[in-house]
Amino acid sequence: MSTSYELRCRECGKLWGNQPRSICEGCFSPLEVTYDYDGLRARISREQIARRPPNMWRYAELLPLPKDFHPSLPTGFTPLISAPHLAKELGAKRLSIKNDAVCLPTLSFKDRVVAVALAQARSFGFDTVACSSTGNLANAVAAQAAREGFKAWIFVPADLEPAKVLGTQVYGAQLVRIAGSYDQVNRLCSQIADEHRWGFVNVNLRPYYAEGSKTVGFEIAEQLGWRLPDNVVVPMAGGSLITKIKKAFDELITLGLVEKKQVRFFGAQATGCSPISTAVKGAQEEILPQRPSTIARSLAIGNPADGHYAIRAITGSGGWSEDVSDPEIVESIQLLAEREGIFTETAGGVTVGTARKLYQQGRIAPDETTVLCITGNGLKTTDALVGHYEAEEPIAPKITAFETFLQNALEVPAPVEASA
Ligand SMILES: *Cc1c(COP(=O)(O)O)cnc(C)c1O
Ligand SMILES: [Zn+2]
Repeated sequence: MSTSYELRCRECGKLWGNQPRSICEGCFSPLEVTYDYDGLRARISREQIARRPPNMWRYAELLPLPKDFHPSLPTGFTPLISAPHLAKELGAKRLSIKNDAVCLPTLSFKDRVVAVALAQARSFGFDTVACSSTGNLANAVAAQAAREGFKAWIFVPADLEPAKVLGTQVYGAQLVRIAGSYDQVNRLCSQIADEHRWGFVNVNLRPYYAEGSKTVGFEIAEQLGWRLPDNVVVPMAGGSLITKIKKAFDELITLGLVEKKQVRFFGAQATGCSPISTAVKGAQEEILPQRPSTIARSLAIGNPADGHYAIRAITGSGGWSEDVSDPEIVESIQLLAEREGIFTETAGGVTVGTARKLYQQGRIAPDETTVLCITGNGLKTTDALVGHYEAEEPIAPKITAFETFLQNALEVPAPVEASA
């Protein structure tokens, strides 16, 4: 199904073939998947892709998939919709939303990365898959492991949102809650991966996993009519998604599937965990690790593995990075829901709040084509909204009771804040 690809060191260029490994032993830099682009150019076209089913596997030639791979889930190809009402609020004109809040099977973009990682886990002969997670990856690994017949071990920080804990356990995965930060969980997983022959999707399978994120970029380009946007705004945790959307756009240009264009990349973080945006704003090339404290738990990685490359993608493109406070995250979740009918999780609040700042600062011009990446679903982080909505007292099931209720509702339009 796929073409030739292999692992290559991002710094020294040494080739490593295909194996469960994420670091170059020569120079300790991260590995990534490279393809035979010259061979691909003749074999891939827009028309051919457009004829395939609407899911992420339509870009199979640009994914590291084993020869005998047959996808079992139609993951990806989420809607790209224009957002006129949100645009008005932000002072934008040509604003679109890439809505991975409805990605299948577990309602975040992590379904894409896991789908690719498990394809390789199978070909490497693992019977157990695992991950360290801030929540969404846990859900995606647990669900897809169940479907594909792997055992799953999931390692998470103990303070995760209850919906993300439950949304892991329900699939029968073995959940290990760690009394520590995500960065401590991740370090532990690296040690476990050295001891046990398990396929850790974001540790020893990380180069393959990360390629799944490219499909967000492929889809944005195809859904814009095989054109690249002027700007994308992307939430950042480990910093992988933003670098892979850039890789996707670069590959489409290399293969002649879109016209060359300098897309600007804008990173979004929560102020309570903003190692990448802090570095960008301070013109630093390296990350200074932070201790996270934010309601945006899915983004709470204080020492991002791809931070260095995320900084490069942002500054090298002429983009910028911003961060928003917890109250701004909540307001932004509400704004997106009220204006466009999309209920996103805290990470999406980070993206929308950051976009607002970027328009205010004049870093994004209103008439440029801009895509906001909404990466997860609000039903998983309802905790963030606790206390923001009061349930009215119930009324009797009588028309007179309703008429009284209506009268009161119309007469007293008191918003919650005003009465507080
Ligand atoms: C993991 C995650 C991100 C960020 O992904 P990275 O590739 O680690 O930067 C963004 N949004 C949501 C909802 C996530 O779960
Ligand atoms: Zn190297």
